[in-house]
Amino acid sequence: GTPLERHDSRHDASDRWPRQNSLSMKEWDIPYDELKLFEVIGTGRFGTVYRGSWHGAVAVKLLHVNALSDHTAPLDTFKHEVATFRKTRHENLVLFMGACMKPPRLAIVTSLCKGMTLYTHIHLRKDKFTANKSVIVAQQISQGMGYLHARGIVHKDLKTKNIFLENGKVVITDFGLFSVTKLCFGNNARGDSLGIPPGWLCYLAPELHRALRPIASLHLPFSKATDVYAFGTVWYELLCGEYPFKGQPPEAVIWQVGKGVKQSLNNMQASRDIKDILMLCWAYRSSERPDFPHLLSTLEKLPRKRLARSPSHPVHLSRSADS
Ligand code: ATP
Repeated sequence: GTPLERHDSRHDASDRWPRQNSLSMKEWDIPYDELKLFEVIGTGRFGTVYRGSWHGAVAVKLLHVNALSDHTAPLDTFKHEVATFRKTRHENLVLFMGACMKPPRLAIVTSLCKGMTLYTHIHLRKDKFTANKSVIVAQQISQGMGYLHARGIVHKDLKTKNIFLENGKVVITDFGLFSVTKLCFGNNARGDSLGIPPGWLCYLAPELHRALRPIASLHLPFSKATDVYAFGTVWYELLCGEYPFKGQPPEAVIWQVGKGVKQSLNNMQASRDIKDILMLCWAYRSSERPDFPHLLSTLEKLPRKRLARSPSHPVHLSRSADS
């Protein structure tokens, strides 16, 4: 196979892929003509997401096939990722409904998420999350991610933009599709001079920073542990209302994280237990990062009394919290 396929096979349980027969793939094949597309919800580099209808309200991610044609074996990779996607059934994961797999029409159909992303809550609306609420959100993320990992799926792009909050329920989107639908350095229309979309770097574990090269992002060594690192950043955003390394240029972030420097927590008003979770997730050595079941039990054990002390105050404004 291509280098891309070889990379994926290390992380995505693609050992199961050869056993998928064409019949079982057909079950998930949605004829493009059956889809109704309404307005554009948003556009990424490789795809555009539409509000659509297919037996009810859906989100349709239509891939820009021209953008894909520069890459090796895009259709195989796409089918592989769809095969991975369809194995997921969990409360906290977006519902995969099917895909259009006949080029040039490549699309992924999922349930339409209501509510807003954590990114919108935190960075645009500046909503404050109390410590209690942050813990509840983090527990649900850990549950969804723990499930994905148990199925052998690495998210590769866990970030607040890919986490919806629907009436208090967390829904994670965009998992396992990174290879086809995401970044390609050097083929960059958005982002900055290095081809890095704003806000992306702070989710990348040190080993990913060290592997960053121009035109190489498809081959980054993503793993379950790099997902845990990204979760740490989500946890930081929930608690602090901003990204780590805020305002620093990408060169500075890559240099620091690659050699093990972490965002300082000195100014963060939160309990030791809460900061410990951050430090564990951001551990320099990937082997020292906890897995999601471990994180879940740590989150469940956080002392409720302390959390409940000032429910009306967000954790980063609470002056009474220990540090
Ligand atoms: P990136 O390409 O860097 O991941 P992005 O997350 O904004 O950026 P997309 O994943 O293409 O790009 O999403 C485009 C828009 O569609 C986003 O605003 C996203 O919140 C929205 N969106 C994606 N999936 C769904 C869904 N299932 N339901 C509702 N909105 C969705």
